[in-house]
Amino acid sequence: MPNPSTPHLRLLVGSQHLYGPEPLREVAHNAQTVADALSAADAIPLPVTFGGVLTTSAEIRNACLDADGDPTCVGVVLWMHTFSPARMWISGLTGLRTPFVHLHTQFHRDLPWDTIDMDYMNLHQAAHGDREAGFLHTRLRLERKVIAGHWSDPTVQQRLGRWARVAHAWHELQQLKVARFGDNMRNVAVTEGDKVAAQVRLGVTVDGYGVGDLVARANEVGDGAIRDLVDAYVEAYQVAPELLPGGGRHGALLHAARVELGLRAFLDEGGYRAFTTTFEDLHGLDQLPGFAAQRLMADGYGFGAEGDWKTAALLSALKVMAGERGMGTSFMEDYTYDLGPDGPRVLGSHMLEVCPSIADERPRMEIHPLGIGGKSDPVRLVFDAKQGPAVNVSLIDLGQRFRLIVNEVDSVSHPALPKLPVARAVWTCRPDFATAAEAWIYAGGAHHSVFSYDIDAEQVEDLAAMAGVEVVVIDADTRLRTLRNELRLADLSYTLRRGLGD
Ligand code: MN
Repeated sequence: MPNPSTPHLRLLVGSQHLYGPEPLREVAHNAQTVADALSAADAIPLPVTFGGVLTTSAEIRNACLDADGDPTCVGVVLWMHTFSPARMWISGLTGLRTPFVHLHTQFHRDLPWDTIDMDYMNLHQAAHGDREAGFLHTRLRLERKVIAGHWSDPTVQQRLGRWARVAHAWHELQQLKVARFGDNMRNVAVTEGDKVAAQVRLGVTVDGYGVGDLVARANEVGDGAIRDLVDAYVEAYQVAPELLPGGGRHGALLHAARVELGLRAFLDEGGYRAFTTTFEDLHGLDQLPGFAAQRLMADGYGFGAEGDWKTAALLSALKVMAGERGMGTSFMEDYTYDLGPDGPRVLGSHMLEVCPSIADERPRMEIHPLGIGGKSDPVRLVFDAKQGPAVNVSLIDLGQRFRLIVNEVDSVSHPALPKLPVARAVWTCRPDFATAAEAWIYAGGAHHSVFSYDIDAEQVEDLAAMAGVEVVVIDADTRLRTLRNELRLADLSYTLRRGLGD
């Protein structure tokens, strides 16, 4: 397969000249077969191209430079089909910026007990060829993923597929631009952070704008486009009668449509795939633009409320990781608890801005007062979230480094909430409420997070490895004493590793 012009993985296969030309031809043929099978696998969302059998230091270095130079190559897959003396890989791998996964596999699944001879042994020796490679990766302190098992095994393909989604998200993060309208909510600590360090470490660019720039763009939107969008709302949602054409509050819906179109145009014209707003800076806007945030999140844009650019960037990346056909990924906030006999459960929500991708029903479009911000009543989408396993993910800035925190949770059923005019999710935490909440708080996790049904804790760990940032996992195995010691050791480890860097 030629290298596609879409995001893809590239399989690089190591060998050497010791065995003569015929085995190398067979290695190349086998590698092409593996690449084609992985490409065709439903569990792997990206094509896998075969980048060649590499047998010299110069070939390896060129292959690594090619991977880094190709803007559509999001990840490299390494496999030592035969033995490939690893000193040949030093030059290439020390320069490689593209994330790589070490696929520890072999061509044949079953060992041919009756016919195996030394020719077979020499051709199929990844069992030790990959250990030679692994030693060097560790010796060079290279962050990478190791996946072991036969390439046709569905579990191996699923793990490779999930890693591919992480590599794709990391690739997009390198080009991500976040637009901030206004600053952080005043006096809030956790939404602050070092934007220069974020660009160095995560690749993301954060640009500030006055909200007046958004207002000006919204005022340019034509009435025809607004009418068309209102038709789309009526098609997609259960719209409250007072918001419908002829209804007493229809003007508020027209305003929301204008702001959505203006915001979408502003972001697209500037190349922004994520944004923040703050209710403390809404000059010229009639309503807090929470409905527009809901609509744009549903189309894959990252969002963070109250100026939270870190969560906006994280949401954008995790939406790439989740893919387009998932159960949903949203901005979220731990809001309030049910600590009674049916709990403990967490009610997650926000003032308005929960992504309808997580909705379990056709969202209702409603209008209600908002107690803060001092603006007109904002329209919003109201719904319950789906049930099922999910994660909450938080990105914080500790001053000298970033930390990702992930908690595995389970979105559960709950009583009706007839008086609550915002979208919401209700979940239980793993391993249990008290351990998870205490661990999250010890780790410094934010009240804002990204809530997703489509990614798992291992993928957050893989993203952290690509970024070189710390990750704290809170899951069924979490014990507080161990976790608190991990946090203490991480301070030491990252101080030693990072020194005076970002
Ligand atoms: Mn908030």
